[in-house]
Amino acid sequence: MTESLHPLLPAATPVLRLDDDLLQVGGVDGRAGLRVQPAGADVAALIRRLDGQRPERAVRAGAVADGVPAAVVDDLLAGLRSAGLVHDLAAADLLAADPGPAARARAAVELPAAVPAPGTGGRWRARRQSAVVVEGATRVGTPLAAVLAASGVGRVHVRDRGPTRAGDAVVGGAAAGDEGRPRALAAADAVRRASPLTDLRPLAPEAAVDLVVLCRPWAAADPLTAALHRAGTPHLVATVRGETGIVGPLVVPGAAGGCLRCAEAWRRDDDPAWPRLAAQLAAADAAPTGSTLTALFTALTAAVQVLAHLDGDDDPVTVGGALEMRPPEFLPRLRRWPAHPDCACGAARRSTPGPGPDADR
Ligand SMILES: [Zn+2]
Repeated sequence: MTESLHPLLPAATPVLRLDDDLLQVGGVDGRAGLRVQPAGADVAALIRRLDGQRPERAVRAGAVADGVPAAVVDDLLAGLRSAGLVHDLAAADLLAADPGPAARARAAVELPAAVPAPGTGGRWRARRQSAVVVEGATRVGTPLAAVLAASGVGRVHVRDRGPTRAGDAVVGGAAAGDEGRPRALAAADAVRRASPLTDLRPLAPEAAVDLVVLCRPWAAADPLTAALHRAGTPHLVATVRGETGIVGPLVVPGAAGGCLRCAEAWRRDDDPAWPRLAAQLAAADAAPTGSTLTALFTALTAAVQVLAHLDGDDDPVTVGGALEMRPPEFLPRLRRWPAHPDCACGAARRSTPGPGPDADR
């Protein structure tokens, strides 16, 4: 038996009256709307009460008690669904909400994007049960952590051991007044500002992490990467090198797509001196980098990829590739990083042979 659907018409969707018996729902934002007839006061009230809190059968029973025929209710819901105006929450989504009216109000504006289409009910709960670790409270990592928490990810921990520098301050991240404080604490405060009830505690070494986001500029040469691979933990690069924002690759050990070492192997093929350069790059505590626009474009692009992974979307675009964006246009460009045949991860053996990586790497 499937979970019953809880239809939600977001409170911001306009319900506009054209005449005594005709309503228009939505249709003023470039997307399809729905004209509803018959549409007396009882139908208008029914539409406005689609708050996602009641299962469909309770919605129908309530409307029938108010004198609206069941067939009218069914036609209305079918029309709202086919126009993409109603989002169907699962009962589990409602149970996954934080307590209190303020948390409910924050969730109400996030839910329509988290449960975008029929059949996606339950994804909010999955996000609420997810744990993400952000490695590096950088100008990308801290706003990214805040965005993920605000988007419903239940546990977000930011790892960093350094002190906050003046240049670490960024919109949505460390504040100007955080200079000198531990970056991990500044990051936790930034997440709390966006989402006060998110679980920020560190995870035990043996605890399962759904995804680690590597926000330091040269994570591939970091020993941490090998440990993540051994543990089978999915990981994603999200950083700024120079003024180029980079999101990807998303590495899911054992699945399709190469790993960070594959990308390093391609670089080494291109320049045998690369490993010596990379070791020095990874060893340095990189200075804050990336303009506000670059850092936030990168953080938001990374958040889309993280949520796609947590939500179970097939093949997020950064599996086997990286999105790169740079000023002034910030139009993302996808650079492919296929599995390298010499890499110990073995991804090349699991995927169909294709061309090497894109040029200009
Ligand atoms: Zn590999």
